[in-house]
Amino acid sequence: MSCIFCRIAKKELPSKIVYEDDSVLAFEDIAPQAPIHILVIPKKHYSTVLEIDDKTLIGHIFTVINEIAQQKRFSEKGFRVVVNCNSDGGQTVYHLHFHILAGRRMFWPPG
Ligand code: 5GP
Ligand code: ZN
Repeated sequence: MSCIFCRIAKKELPSKIVYEDDSVLAFEDIAPQAPIHILVIPKKHYSTVLEIDDKTLIGHIFTVINEIAQQKRFSEKGFRVVVNCNSDGGQTVYHLHFHILAGRRMFWPPG
C-alpha cells in the first residue's frame, strides 16, 4: 500500500492525531499554511472528492470538523475548510482530505 494517508490511517506512519473514530482520522498537516492546519480524512481510501459515494460519511466528516472547531475554540473567530481536486485544484495527495485552516485571517480569492 503506497498511499501515504492510508499508511497514516493505519498508524504505519506517524502523525499528530487530533481526532479519531472508526471511520475518520484528523491530524496536523506536516507543512501548516496557518497557525492551525488540520487534515480530516476518511479511513477508507477515496482518491478524490469525485469518488465520494457515501453521503453519511461526508455528513460525519463535517460533524467532526465542527467538533474540532468547538474543542480548539476557533469556531467563533472562524476558519476555512478546503478540498482540492486534481491538478487544477492543487491536489498533491490522492487520498480524499479536508483541510481545516484557522488562527489567521484568510484571503479571498485563495489563489
Ligand atoms: P493537497 O495539496 O493534496 O490538498 O494537500 C496535501 C496536504 O498533505 C498538504 O497540505 C501537505 O502538507 C500534507 N502532507 C503531505 N504529506 C504529509 C505527511 O506525510 N504527513 C502530514 N501530516 N501531512 C502531509
Ligand atoms: Zn489512501
